Amino acid sequence: MINPGTLYIVATPIGNLEDISRRAVEVLQQVDCIYAEDTRHSSRLFQHCGITTRTVSVHEHNESERVAGVIGHLSSGGTAALVSDAGTPLISDPGYRLVSACHAEGITVSPLPGPCALVAALSVSGLPTDRFVYVGFLPAKEAAREQALKALAHEASTLVFYESRHRIKPWMNSALTIFGADRPVTVARELTKTFETICHGTLASVNDWLLQDEQQQKGEFVIVVGGAVSDTATDEVQLVRVLELLLPELSVKKAASIAATMTGLGRNRAYEVALTLKNAKNPDNDT
Ligand code: SAM
Repeated sequence: MINPGTLYIVATPIGNLEDISRRAVEVLQQVDCIYAEDTRHSSRLFQHCGITTRTVSVHEHNESERVAGVIGHLSSGGTAALVSDAGTPLISDPGYRLVSACHAEGITVSPLPGPCALVAALSVSGLPTDRFVYVGFLPAKEAAREQALKALAHEASTLVFYESRHRIKPWMNSALTIFGADRPVTVARELTKTFETICHGTLASVNDWLLQDEQQQKGEFVIVVGGAVSDTATDEVQLVRVLELLLPELSVKKAASIAATMTGLGRNRAYEVALTLKNAKNPDNDT
């Protein structure tokens, strides 16, 4: 049973076609139109499930142009579904502009949950799942990629990345450089497909495994990295060292701000320590 004037966001399999839900098939059979990222790619799934609904392409390059037509169709009581090539639409896939335009026009958008590579990988990673940051794809260029990883180096939450076969080796090199050899990691490759492989270890051991077998460098990857473990005692020692260097040159506020960024400790804590050090050196100074 589908509702008029509604856009359904339908998750499709990330490999194994049997992973489509029964309700997803029903909705895809009943809507007037399916907007698909690549109509030819989706036709394999549609044939497998007996879906003969009209399909229209909506992808990264034409999404903005399609919005008005989709809104017109739904505003007049039509029904439609959005699918991507694999998994949940909008997760590193097109659809954001369409969904936000529907909200702006008061059109109902309803999710049909299902496969999503990041959730599948996280569920088998053995890493904490109570807090995670979904990063998706990193920039292709090495300098930008390492810059993005540096910004995450102190993040305590589990980190989830997507990567393709073309960049898995450089990705591992950059992660080793920025996160170090000992960070725990799970590489989930070709999930739900014939050659599914899930490898747990440290960045160093998983990188060795990857390099030893070219087969393991092929396919689609989710990389789940354990968050930074903060050793507060070491961080505090580091904070004092940095402040001792900066305080003779800078104001307490400026030195604290730089030291907080360098150590990953909070600004308030850095300011407190900076003030204590300044006052210890100069007891008559009350600021
Ligand atoms: N919307 C999708 C989802 O819900 O996961 C993601 C689409 S994104 C364009 C494609 C990326 O997702 C791949 O490069 C890979 O990183 C990841 N991915 C998709 N299917 C996968 C699978 N079967 N195994 C591992 N990673 C997969």
